[in-house]
Amino acid sequence: VPIDVDRFIEEVAATWQSKQSHEIRLELSERASFVKADQGQLTQVLHNLISNAIKYSPQATGIDVRVVTSGDIVRIEVQDYGLGIPEGAKDRLFDKFYRVDNTDRREIGGTGLGLAIVKEIVEAHGGRIEFTSRLGEGSTFAVTFEAYPIQSLSNRILILEDDENLHNMIAAS
Ligand code: ATP
Ligand code: MG
Repeated sequence: VPIDVDRFIEEVAATWQSKQSHEIRLELSERASFVKADQGQLTQVLHNLISNAIKYSPQATGIDVRVVTSGDIVRIEVQDYGLGIPEGAKDRLFDKFYRVDNTDRREIGGTGLGLAIVKEIVEAHGGRIEFTSRLGEGSTFAVTFEAYPIQSLSNRILILEDDENLHNMIAAS
């Protein structure tokens, strides 16, 4: 099902906002961009990334979630200003059950599966995941997907006017 990414991100962020101390700031693309994805799985991707961003930011610094559209690529970024990832751990971060074993995060619980699942889901959708991080400064995880094409300009006008109508139209196409 094509998912309206901005709207989807707003919904996911709202579920965190209500139960978390960390402020989640949104920067949306402000033009309708869609990706074809399983909504439940895409939700899990975002939840795993946001939960990490929060969990590994013990100082309750904010989290920035960004939707960037360029050409036919939609990129979703989750940036935190927390513990960061040591150089030596970067190669293994997506391995199942791998957890960084540093004193600064020994008390933080987890199974080491979150990112392995994220990678699996993203790649099953033909997407990519990458990250940049500096120890002590924070991390940015980015997932990119091919945008679902919306062919004609008249369709674009419909998006702005009546989103539900658009969803029905796309579902039928
Ligand atoms: P789970 O997600 O299964 O509850 P987990 O969070 O330990 O457990 P992953 O999400 O796979 O597992 O992350 C693997 C390791 O990567 C983590 O243990 C943590 O050390 C490091 N890590 C992941 N995300 C971040 C982040 N945003 N900032 C700092 N370290 C991170
Ligand atoms: Mg995790």
